Amino acid sequence: MKGFKSFARQTDLVFGDDFNVVIGPNGSGKSNVFDALCFVLGKTSAKGLRAEKSANLIYNGGKSKNAAKSGEVAIYFDNTDKEFPTDTKEVRISRIVKSTGSSTYYINNKKHTRSEVVDFLHHARINPDGYNIILQGDIIRFVEMSGDKRRGIVEEIADISVYEEKKTKAFSELTKVEGSFKEAQIILKERNNYLKDLASEKEQANKYDEFETTLKRGKATLLSRSINEKKSKVENIHSKNASTVEKQKNLQNVIDTNKENIKIAKAEVKEINDDIEKKGDAEQVAIHKEIEGLKISIATEKSRTDSLRGELTKIQDRKSQLKGSLTELNSKVKALKEEEKNKLISQRQNMQLKAELQGKIAAFKKKHKLDGENSADTEIEELDNKIDELQKTVDELRVKQQDMLRSKDRLEIQIRTADEKIDKVMSVSKEHADEIKALKQKKEEFKKVTLELNQVLSSDSSLASQVGNARSRMYFLQEELAKIQAKKASIQEKLGGSLAVSKIIENKKRFGGVNGTVSSLGNVSSQFAKALEIAAGGRIKSIVVENDGVGAECISYLKQNRLGVASFLPINKIRGVSPDKSLDSVLKQPGVHGRAIDLIKYDAKYRNVFSFVFGNTLVVDNIAVARKIGIGVAKMVTLEGDVAEKSGAMQGGFRKPTTTGSGFSQNEVNEKEAEIEEELADISGVLGSVEKKKITSEEKITQLRDFKANLEGDIIRIEK
Ligand code: ATP
Ligand code: MG
Repeated sequence: MKGFKSFARQTDLVFGDDFNVVIGPNGSGKSNVFDALCFVLGKTSAKGLRAEKSANLIYNGGKSKNAAKSGEVAIYFDNTDKEFPTDTKEVRISRIVKSTGSSTYYINNKKHTRSEVVDFLHHARINPDGYNIILQGDIIRFVEMSGDKRRGIVEEIADISVYEEKKTKAFSELTKVEGSFKEAQIILKERNNYLKDLASEKEQANKYDEFETTLKRGKATLLSRSINEKKSKVENIHSKNASTVEKQKNLQNVIDTNKENIKIAKAEVKEINDDIEKKGDAEQVAIHKEIEGLKISIATEKSRTDSLRGELTKIQDRKSQLKGSLTELNSKVKALKEEEKNKLISQRQNMQLKAELQGKIAAFKKKHKLDGENSADTEIEELDNKIDELQKTVDELRVKQQDMLRSKDRLEIQIRTADEKIDKVMSVSKEHADEIKALKQKKEEFKKVTLELNQVLSSDSSLASQVGNARSRMYFLQEELAKIQAKKASIQEKLGGSLAVSKIIENKKRFGGVNGTVSSLGNVSSQFAKALEIAAGGRIKSIVVENDGVGAECISYLKQNRLGVASFLPINKIRGVSPDKSLDSVLKQPGVHGRAIDLIKYDAKYRNVFSFVFGNTLVVDNIAVARKIGIGVAKMVTLEGDVAEKSGAMQGGFRKPTTTGSGFSQNEVNEKEAEIEEELADISGVLGSVEKKKITSEEKITQLRDFKANLEGDIIRIEK
């Protein structure tokens, strides 16, 4: 070290291999050695080197010498085992600080930057800010610091804070990834639902196709069957018609033969009549007979004709019956048409068939001159026209119906999709009912927790201020107490001054029956402290013992151990001084405070001891008062400690404040001490309970914060 802190001139410290100790009086610069170590190893903070600023690290010249221009520290490391990445067997690191405060670093006398030096040192695991250098006060700081901070330091030493950071980072990334994973899952679920919908729609469409083809096939079968039926019916009608025509022909033939027969008969009648005219009456009668006979045969023929006619009528009836069944068939066709309304083609075919039939019937009628049928035909025609008209209306209605059906279908589809949507929404809300409920609950809880947290935070800050107040009061009281105790201790020390006295007091227990020095057994008010101490004189250091036996024991102990001499006042032997009644009048005079023995408090058992110590000594204001009373009247002590002996001798003058402490415990001091101790106990009790509360409240805060954060996370997740 050279020019660094208190090391003005070059100072070399050569350290041994094992344990090295630097010793010296306070302020001799021991800690400066460690500051030098930290300095050369690159510690940047001037405060850490116990200087206001870097320039203060340079030797300042003290009171009379010149200040140095720069401060330099160099450290030499053994590098035989190559801890440092260099070939040299020794490594020299040095740092120079200039008055401007700037520093220059060197490795083996070559200039380097600080970070290079720090890196270099890092190879040998040396860190100026690390905890391998423990400075004065560090332990106390470490012991007094909060658990949290201590943990931080342990982490720093263990070098795991880096991993903590990495861990936190990894956790936050994990949370992000989890978030997007959840989103992806939600989307996937939706897509799956959509796919399911599509699949069921596809299935329905397939079914629809199937049904449509089946329907078409069924309709075609139905149509072809009804066409076949109608064809066979028409054929039937045809055959029936043919047989009827045959019968008609036969009957016509019979009629024709009969007509021929009648013609022949008539001609025969004419011939006969002519004969009659020719042959006369006889013959006429015979002829008439013959005519009658013929007439009868004609009548018979006529009746036969009539019956034939009846037959013909029957046939006619049968024909009209057939017509009727034809009409019936037509109406059936109409019914079929109604059934197969949308099958226009089939209807047209039927119409065509019908037209053909009608054509054929008409042709037939024309052929056979059956005019009687005309009226029926027109009726049929009219009916057909009506059928056509009705068909048209039906078609129109059909078209309308189709339109309506289509719009109905459309509406139905819309309704169905709406229903499906509603179902989906209902199912989703049903499926998530629990979660929705939970969400509501969580939100409610979140509100509550926030409120509670705010309350706890505000009560926590009030607790903090309570703790702060209690602490500062406690520190203040502790200081006061320390001052009082120090004062007491120094007094006791001074008065217990002699080795003999202090040894006896120290070993009090060993003798059993040593009560203490006179000074320790009385309490006085501070006003009279000085006066009474002087009044007691050397006896104040006398040791009060229970009896003369104890006194003897103590004396032989001191002798044996060559510890000097002490005075003993055995309670069983000591005789008090009886009060001088003549002084009673003096006591009433102004400036007189009273007998010394009356101004001190003590245990009644020491009555004789204190009476022996003080005798009839009076305490007065000052020498003037003493003189007024009369020097020599009694032993008098002034408040300042001047003395007028009974012998007339006077003693007094200036007393140094330090040497005039009270040998006796002062009431005020003791009271004050007791008071402070009491308050301290109170405060530490309060502090303890408030701190406990604070800890609980802090725990509660962390707990609530955690809980709140969790709730927030849950809410976001559920809402998603
Ligand atoms: P203790 O036993 O009390 O811990 P110590 O031996 O550790 O004492 P240090 O604190 O190392 O003592 O040394 C302090 C001394 O160094 C003080 O006397 C102070 O005046 C001196 N000192 C500090 N800085 C400088 C400076 N820049 N120039 C000269 N002297 C300085
Ligand atoms: Mg020190």
